[in-house]
Amino acid sequence: MKFVVQVRLFPTPAQEAALADTLRLCNEAANLVSRVAWETKTFRNYDLRVHSYGDLKAMGLSAQPAQHVIKKVSDAYTTVKAQVSAELRKPLAKPIGFRPDAAQPFDDRCLSWQVEARTVSIWTTGGRMKGVRFACSDEQARALAAYRKGESDLIHRDGMWLLIATCDVPDADVTEPDAFLGVDLGIANIATTSDGERHSGKHLNAVRHRNRELRRRLQAKQTKSAKRLLKARRRKESRFARNVNHRISKSIVTEAARTGRGIALEDLQGIRDRVRLRKPQRVTLHSWSFHQLGQFIAYKAARQGVAVVHVDPAYTSQACSSCGHVDKKNRPDQATFSCTSCGFAEHADVNAARNIASRGVAGWAVSHAADDAA
Ligand SMILES: [Zn+2]
Repeated sequence: MKFVVQVRLFPTPAQEAALADTLRLCNEAANLVSRVAWETKTFRNYDLRVHSYGDLKAMGLSAQPAQHVIKKVSDAYTTVKAQVSAELRKPLAKPIGFRPDAAQPFDDRCLSWQVEARTVSIWTTGGRMKGVRFACSDEQARALAAYRKGESDLIHRDGMWLLIATCDVPDADVTEPDAFLGVDLGIANIATTSDGERHSGKHLNAVRHRNRELRRRLQAKQTKSAKRLLKARRRKESRFARNVNHRISKSIVTEAARTGRGIALEDLQGIRDRVRLRKPQRVTLHSWSFHQLGQFIAYKAARQGVAVVHVDPAYTSQACSSCGHVDKKNRPDQATFSCTSCGFAEHADVNAARNIASRGVAGWAVSHAADDAA
């Protein structure tokens, strides 16, 4: 399973100047290669190398960075071409442009990680910079040390220097689950388990609400500083949501692993449908955040050999988890579940999570019957 780790660099002023110069030069070079590609209609990595390698060397790029610049340009054209459907395909009106601070990939020869010391050594136009400090969590450090593979991307964003690395984690053997921990995702409670544990969305929703209000006020002003402020707020909000998702996924996976259970989640489509019933503008935001939570759970579960199944979420909120009776009236309000048939009462999200847990048991049995038959 692949995932990305993003760490923040803390370069000294001299290191920062070298990084800035390197990123600027690499993107100047990318724009040059892009013009060559566009003018000569050569987009393949190898062909482009023939056309532009000499120029890049003359600009002061050494062999590896030059090759990465060429590959970056070639990949950008591939991506843009793939985005345009065949009928609409016509020659691009101008070459693809790269911003001066656009991300630049570095391979292991140009950038090496000393995870334990929390430093990297990186090729720059001013020579090799050793001992550039970075910060990361212990969990990120473990992932970087054990599973980092391939290139790392250097990015300058909002005044911060960031490195983005890809980690490839082999899945642990999945333990045969004794039962399933059901997880219901929502807005008031971001995640509720069938054990009755509720992870409240109160704090996160308050942050989102504040930012929405601010956006509404500032969007009227189209000034540059207003736009910058909005952008910074959006990033801060998504960092906050990310941390919340990390905390919740850790708690859920740890609990499932401790009790020898698998994890049952509803398909994302169900969340979209449900959220759509209320405020359409929230759909994108929340489904993105749920998707991230689902990914974090899947990744942490895979590392610990905890089984994860996705279940059909239809009627999980209206069905009684005790007797199975389905009725809209079982759900008199957002938070309450009270069965009109058997009288079973529970918090509505906990009842839904219990339904998801029992569908997980059924889903696991079905998929494993298929395994046995194969
Ligand atoms: Zn009932």
